[in-house]
Amino acid sequence: MANWPIHASFDGDMVMIGFGSIGKGSLPLILRHIAVDPKRVTVISPDDSGRPEAEALGVTFVKTAITPENLAATLDPLFTKPGGFLVNLSVEVSSLDLIRYAATKDALYIDTCIEPWPGGYTDPSLSPSERSNYALRETALALRAELGTDSPTAVLTHGANPGMVSHLVKQALLNLAKDLDVATDVPRTRAGWSALAERLGVKGIHIAERDTQVTGQPKPKDVFHNTWSIDGFISEGLQPTELGWGSFEGDLPFDGGEHAFGEKAAIYLNRPGCTTRVRTWTPAAGSIIGYLITHSEAISIADYFTIKNADGSLRYRPTCHYAYHPCDDAILSLHEMQGNGLEPQSRFRLLNDEIIQGMDELGVLLYGHAKNAYWYGSQLSIEEARELAPYQNATGLQVTSAVLAGMVWALENPRRGVVEPDEMDFDRVLEIQMPYLGPVIGQYSDWTPLKGREALFPEDVDRDEPWRFKNVIVR
Ligand code: NAD
Repeated sequence: MANWPIHASFDGDMVMIGFGSIGKGSLPLILRHIAVDPKRVTVISPDDSGRPEAEALGVTFVKTAITPENLAATLDPLFTKPGGFLVNLSVEVSSLDLIRYAATKDALYIDTCIEPWPGGYTDPSLSPSERSNYALRETALALRAELGTDSPTAVLTHGANPGMVSHLVKQALLNLAKDLDVATDVPRTRAGWSALAERLGVKGIHIAERDTQVTGQPKPKDVFHNTWSIDGFISEGLQPTELGWGSFEGDLPFDGGEHAFGEKAAIYLNRPGCTTRVRTWTPAAGSIIGYLITHSEAISIADYFTIKNADGSLRYRPTCHYAYHPCDDAILSLHEMQGNGLEPQSRFRLLNDEIIQGMDELGVLLYGHAKNAYWYGSQLSIEEARELAPYQNATGLQVTSAVLAGMVWALENPRRGVVEPDEMDFDRVLEIQMPYLGPVIGQYSDWTPLKGREALFPEDVDRDEPWRFKNVIVR
């Protein structure tokens, strides 16, 4: 399509670390929508696999694996003046060390998850609480306090989820308010948003995703297939199950644990997310079972919408968690990995050109209110994704358009310190992303996690409160 809008211009040094599915997909969008000289852009990756794509776009390609030891020496020559942009789309490079580095160069920063150095997600010497996303987020919040709120903007966790879904939640709340005839302005503060969610009676939020992309070939034995980073998916899948713990829930799950530090908006379960199944609903797929993979949005959204009483006790918080039905090949891959004692397959295959059909249906399901459940999100097909931008599948474009939108927002808001998606301008970000999301729809449903329960066998369900997590988790 011609006449793509230029959203921002940038005359500093831009360095992208990592050039896998998200890096390769983000770069053409950045060059399409941000006026920047490609000669000022450098991509760093440990292998040459993306060199042809990077060089075809006119940017410099540096083959290096970033380590704690070489980080500064590698990046110093690339940041020739203050005011650069560090774009972290890698795995196994510490987000916090990169944010610290960017601050020393007065450079902007963005990532799509809070990444530790290798082994950080699965270090057996750490307790489940210590290797949770909750703990990683707490360290990021501590760094925010240390750097100060007028340091260069560092946008944390701004992909599709975490990232875009925080903005979808706000638009969904406004849509729900309209449909429930609840008069409201567009809130501009955290207190305003949480008050609106409480007034609307939203008990919880699923990040509800069904990826239906398929290839024409069966998955071979001992190969992990997925539509985005397999390293990334396995890492987060092996972290403890985590969810924002709502004020309506009651008792902790039997294997649930509370953290001993921080705001305590979230809990963890003593088991990995890649073995924790939960019930949810999306418009096209209907009633589905997904995996409760830990994600920082489950924690940040629950925290953002928390309301405390004057004495500090909890008044309102929505439950929030991911409910992810990945593509069918990834389900088979997870099943195979579980059968192998959680030992990953010997080969990984990131599905892209071989996808023949399907879509990524990714949105937020707001539940427990007077209209029961409302899903709002993107239904992006593989065909539409391919038409819109190069090097993407449907999953990738939902992420890369969020990277672009987060970068534009950072350029427009350059001194906001470390920020989470919930603290950004949801409407500006969605405006930039919308052309890349396919149909964005809102749909109500009478589905609850009690659907079809106890028809054949007795179950210990909570009939008084259908939306409690006790009913959502598959036990
Ligand atoms: P990928 O596995 O396809 O690519 C990762 C890239 O990082 C590769 O180029 C790899 O070579 C590079 N890398 C690995 N070690 C490195 C090192 N030491 N120094 C520099 N580069 C290194 O992953 P992807 O699908 O492109 O995902 C990238 C990141 O985005 C991951 O952290 C993933 O979890 C995250 N992600 C977030 C979302 C979201 O919606 N928030 C969605 C998808 C992916």
